[in-house]
Parts: sequence; structure tokens; C-alpha cells
Amino acid sequence: MNDTGSATPPPGLATPFRVDRLVDRFGRVHTDLRVSVTDRCTLRCTYCMPLDAAFKPRGELLTFDEFVRVVAVAAGLGIRSVRVTGGEPLLRPGLPELIARLVALPGIGEVALTTNGLLLESQAAGLRAAGLHRLNVSLDALDDETFRRIARADGLDRVLAGLGAAREAGFTGIRVNAVSIRGITEAQAVPLARFCSREGFHLRFIEFMPLDAESAWSGAQVLTGQEVRRILEADLGPLEPAPSADPGQPAVDWRFADGSLVGFIDPVSHPFCDRCDRLRLTADGQLRNCLFSTSEWDARALLRAGGENLDDRLSRLLLDCTAAKHAAHGIGAPGFERPARAMYQIGG
Ligand code: SAM
Ligand code: SF4
Repeated sequence: MNDTGSATPPPGLATPFRVDRLVDRFGRVHTDLRVSVTDRCTLRCTYCMPLDAAFKPRGELLTFDEFVRVVAVAAGLGIRSVRVTGGEPLLRPGLPELIARLVALPGIGEVALTTNGLLLESQAAGLRAAGLHRLNVSLDALDDETFRRIARADGLDRVLAGLGAAREAGFTGIRVNAVSIRGITEAQAVPLARFCSREGFHLRFIEFMPLDAESAWSGAQVLTGQEVRRILEADLGPLEPAPSADPGQPAVDWRFADGSLVGFIDPVSHPFCDRCDRLRLTADGQLRNCLFSTSEWDARALLRAGGENLDDRLSRLLLDCTAAKHAAHGIGAPGFERPARAMYQIGG
């Protein structure tokens, strides 16, 4: 190691990497960690979870102490933002306690949460009091029938009540995420944009990715961001590209003439792997370097074996996981292999 803390790169690697930072072979610096706190859910969205989902025994999920320990070590390696997700994270009892502990960790500047919103009405104030910085609420449809068709359960009223409660609790910049699926989103895009513009939420469309539990995904089912944009423009007028405050984020924002923003996350039609700064920790304590990773690094085994130098060994695991990251997810490329686990088991 030299005096700047950088290691000499292995032969064949062009980019020097620092052993105290999560930098991969392609020079991507990892500052964002997605932490799934449960694989259970109140919904059964077709693109994420099977109707008969089998969940991990609770004893296999990390405890709050274990999550905090991994995140603290990751913060020492440059992780600056944490997004808590699931399954449905609001099903995890006592979640505000975990949020408060993550917020308090040195180095962690932002803690965000992605939720389906069903349990948000009663929990929004507690999450705000715990110091949660940002909130994303998933909402694909604004009519009961379409909501039920996607989520395979009722709940639209509760999501809308949750969104209202979140705003009431003082959250600002609330994002509404909609998965864009051909045959469904064409009719939802304009109502969602009108709703979000009226209510002051930031709408983002995410292209449907091959992470559905039933392996029914095909490229033909993806309504691309560009197609959604055309649908919006036909009804609501032209969209102009809006500069992003954070160039690292995958969403590309566009602005209507009235100033309201709409974002597009297009992992299928416009992969952003070259800018990826994310690692993931599953609810059962497995580190992943990509949603589409086919390997996992077992943090739970280290945590539960205990012993000396645990933090050093967790650091090594995080570095190994990062170092093994592929250049791109490879969706659509010859030989693309879907991960064995579906979205609800990984954490979106
Ligand atoms: N249950 C919470 C929720 O729905 O917001 C958090 C977990 S969910 C897995 C996180 C995000 O992933 C949601 O916005 C969901 O719509 C999105 N998602 C799930 N499966 C997806 C897929 N196959 N393609 C694209 N986005 C997906
Ligand atoms: Fe549950 Fe979220 Fe998956 Fe829907 S997308 S089944 S709400 S985890």
C-alpha cells in the first residue's frame, strides 16, 4: 500500500483502487448500500413475488444489531447513504429504532426507505421522528382494479392515506415509484403524473426488470421510459430534460412546462451500470454487488461465528464482494442468467 492508502492494482487492471474504499475493477466507487430488512410483504406484486411465497424463518434474518454492525463497517469503507427496503420494510417490528441507529452512524449522511405505503399511515410520524431523511412510496396504479391486478391484494386507499400521512409528518421530496409494464402502464401514466403534480410528489417510472418470481418476464413486457414519456407528452405537453442534482443517481429527470418533474429509471433500455455505486445486503445477511448478481457473500455467517477481528473480516467481505462486480447486468445479452432469487428476496 502506498502513503495515500491506495494499493497497487493487480496486473491487468487499469484503475488503481483504494483498499479503504469500495472501488471495483472498473473504478466504480460504491457509496450506497440497500438494506433489506424482511422478505415478507403485505402485497404479492406480479413482478416481484409469487402468490405462494415461502419466507425465511425469522431466525435467519439479521437482527438490528447485526444490520448496524455491517452498515457501520461499510460506512468505514465509504458507504454514505443507506436505503432500507424489503419485502415490505414496515412489516419489520420496531423499524424506527433501526432507522435511528443507522442515522446516528458516523459517515452515514442519508437514510432512505422504500415502502409500498400500506402501513405508512400509522408509521410515518414515528419514522420521521427517528430521523429518516427520504421516503419512496411505490404506486403503480390509481384505480382499484388495476392496483389489485398488479398487487394481487387490495390497498390503494391505504397507500393514498399513507402518502398523505407522510406529507403531514413533514417528509418533503416524497418520491412515487411506478413500475412500467406494457399493457398496464399506458393507461396509468397520465393519471399518476397528474396526481403527483397536484400533490407535490416526485413521480418516477422504473422499467420492469427480470426479477419476477414466476420467471414470466420478457423484453416485450417492458414499457420503456421513452414510450412512457411519449404517452405523457401527448396528453400533458412537452417535457424538457432537467439537470440532475445528483449525477450518480440512475433516474433521469424531465420537466413539464408547469415545473413539475417526472423521472425515468431505464435499466433495461438504457442501462446505467457504468455509474452504479450500489451494494446490497439481503434480509438474511447476504451481500450482493448487483440486483442481477448470481453470487452472494455471507455476512451472516461471519456475524454469527463471532470471534476476533470481526470488523476486519466484514470489511474484507465487503471489499471482495465489490471487487467481483461485473461490468454490467447483461439483461438481453447472450448468456444472461437470471439470479436465483426474486426481487422480494433481494430488496429493490
Ligand atoms: N415493498 C416495498 C415497495 O414495494 O416499495 C419495498 C421493496 S420493493 C422490492 C422495491 C421496489 O422495487 C418497488 O418500487 C417495486 O415496485 C420495485 N420492483 C419490484 N420488482 C420489480 C421488477 N421486477 N422490476 C422493476 N422494479 C421492481
Ligand atoms: Fe411487496 Fe414491494 Fe414486492 Fe410489491 S414490490 S410484492 S410491495 S416487496
